[in-house]
Amino acid sequence: MIHNRLLAALPHDVLALLLPKLSLVELPIRQTLYRAGAAIDAAYFPEAGIVSMVSILSEGEQVEVGMVGREGLVGTPLLADVETSYVEAMVQAPGSALRMEARAFRQELAASPVFRSLMLRYGEAHQAQVIQTAACNGNHGLEQRLARWLLMVHDRTDGDEIPVTQDFIATMLGVHRPSVTVTAGALQRAGLIRYSAGRVTVLDRQRLEAASCECHGAVRQRFAEVIGTPIS
Ligand SMILES: [Zn+2]
Repeated sequence: MIHNRLLAALPHDVLALLLPKLSLVELPIRQTLYRAGAAIDAAYFPEAGIVSMVSILSEGEQVEVGMVGREGLVGTPLLADVETSYVEAMVQAPGSALRMEARAFRQELAASPVFRSLMLRYGEAHQAQVIQTAACNGNHGLEQRLARWLLMVHDRTDGDEIPVTQDFIATMLGVHRPSVTVTAGALQRAGLIRYSAGRVTVLDRQRLEAASCECHGAVRQRFAEVIGTPIS
C-alpha cells in the first residue's frame, strides 16, 4: 500500500510501471537528503515524516522556505532538468520515503506523460507554498506565522502530537527562541496548543486555524486546485 498521496493519485497501470524503480528508505531525523548547490541523487516521495526545505544564508542563518510530507515530492529541481538543489532538504520529522534514482526519475518523466503532468503540477503547487511562505515571513506577525507553521506540520502528522523543540521552531521560522517561547505561551494560555519539553500538542485545530493568517488556507486551496486532492 502506497501512503504517498502523489503516487497514489496516479492510475494503477502508470504506478505499476514505476514501482520497480522505487525503493523504501528510512528518513532519520535531521538527515540531509541534499545540500544547497550539491547534486540531487534521487527523488523522494515521503510515505511518512516531513522534509523541510531550508535556505542557509552566508552568516549561517537558517529559515525554512518549504515543507514536504506524504502529499508530495522532494527533488523538484529534477522536474526542470536541473541536477543541483538551491536549498537544503532536511528531515524535520522522521519517517520513510519511496526513493527513485535521479536518472530513473528523468527517464520516467520522459516516458510517461501522465506521470510528467502530475509531477509538473506538483511542482507548481509546491512553488505556491514557497511563495506564500516568503510573503508570510515578510508581512505577518509571529503568532500568525507560528499558527501557520504548526498547522502545516499537523497536516502532515498522524495524530495531534508534534515532536518539536522551541529551538527548532525558531530556526524554521527564522526568529530568536525567546520570541517563540512568548508566542507559544500565548497560544497555550488561549487553549489552542499544549507545550511540553520537545512536544507541541494541537488541542483546538479550528481555533488554531483562526489564529493563523490566510497563508495556510491559501496554500491548501491552491494545492487542491492544482493537484485535485487535498494536502491531508
Ligand atoms: Zn501568513
